[in-house]
Amino acid sequence: MSKKIQAIRGMNDLLPKDSDLWGYVERTIADLFSSYGYKNIRTPLVEKTDTFCRAIGQATDIVEKEMYSWKESNGESLSLRPEGTAGCVRMMIEHNLPREGIQKVFYQGAMFRHERPQKGRYRQFHQVGLEVFGAADAKVDAELMMMTHSLWQNLGLKNLTLEINTLGSNEARASYREILVEYFSMHKNQLDEDSLRRLETNPLRIFDSKNSDMQALINNAPKLMDHLDGDSAKHFEQFKSYLNCLEIDFVINTRLVRGLDYYNRTVFEWTTTDLGAQGTICAGGRYDGLVEKMGGKPTKAVGLAIGLERLLLLLEEQEIQLANDKLSIYMITPSDEAQIKSMQIATKLHQELPNFIIYNDITMGSFKSQFKKADKANADFALILGEEELNNNQVSIKPLKSQDKQLTSSLDEAIKFFKD
Ligand code: ATP
Ligand code: MG
Repeated sequence: MSKKIQAIRGMNDLLPKDSDLWGYVERTIADLFSSYGYKNIRTPLVEKTDTFCRAIGQATDIVEKEMYSWKESNGESLSLRPEGTAGCVRMMIEHNLPREGIQKVFYQGAMFRHERPQKGRYRQFHQVGLEVFGAADAKVDAELMMMTHSLWQNLGLKNLTLEINTLGSNEARASYREILVEYFSMHKNQLDEDSLRRLETNPLRIFDSKNSDMQALINNAPKLMDHLDGDSAKHFEQFKSYLNCLEIDFVINTRLVRGLDYYNRTVFEWTTTDLGAQGTICAGGRYDGLVEKMGGKPTKAVGLAIGLERLLLLLEEQEIQLANDKLSIYMITPSDEAQIKSMQIATKLHQELPNFIIYNDITMGSFKSQFKKADKANADFALILGEEELNNNQVSIKPLKSQDKQLTSSLDEAIKFFKD
């Protein structure tokens, strides 16, 4: 026998049993974001490697070690997207969109990062991203918090904490960087290899370290919050006051710096303690300088990304049952004649009852085995085409989830029954 073929480690299939849940979550997110006037966009899965390097920053985990990149025959390096903001910014610039006014957009899809696969961390995973271009006001930052807060409520999620911080202006960060280098240099013997490198390239990123041995050192480091520029401090105060107005609880986490290089001012994460180490299910921040850095006109921007696999793990962990609003009909057709007829009937049912799921069994077992399959499919009704029904040009409806009596009628009356 040949060797069984297998998927690549860290890249998952969506199995039929999980498809309703994924569909429900994706629809809930898209409906909510659309209802706030955000437009759904799509960008390619592949971009020039340079697009990601410039946007995300050289001294980041993603660019240093997580990207899937290759060379084309003309020597150009391309990469699978590790996140969505870079491509979205590239699109905004290429199509000159911010010139037309504020752009509020969202997108969903697969992202690729070469990480060590574990629960909540995969090599192909899915994000829904949301970005706003052309608005500096902290009201927009607060709007993103309001939308995500509503989303958790709509999905029935509990135990999520909003952590916020501010990274100030580029200038404030530059002078803080020197203070930080001095501090970590004094404790060089406690730094791991990664952090020693970051001390040279990007010392702020040391805060992003997941090494538990270094947490005390990190906790005692000087805080950026104490070295903020005036405008950023004011922006942060406004952001907090809007959150208070909206009655959204938050905690300030001065160690929150985020993994990407492009952020300034507001940064935030929605975290949970229910998922172990992979507890961040949504993260983002402001990136006012990025559009210009990528070759566009100066355009203030803010955005976030939700990790869908982690969101689904959390729904499962919190045992949240999603209401399935679609009713379903299972057609019981225990003879050849009934099967032929059932094709026509199913077509009519699909036309008349677009919100129903119609299962048209093609196996033609006994009554009993077909009813068993209807139960397994969790159908609400059986539509029976037995010999008697066929002879009288009728159908029978048997409710499968209540004790209500079986009804026999014409097809038109049956459709009327389902419509009510
Ligand atoms: P982490 O610190 O967990 O590595 P990150 O800072 O790299 O996260 P972002 O780039 O901000 O993550 O991505 C936004 C969200 O996407 C994360 O909060 C998480 O929910 C999800 N995410 C990121 N990387 C992965 C991955 N490898 N597998 C599954 N989900 C991921
Ligand atoms: Mg990461």
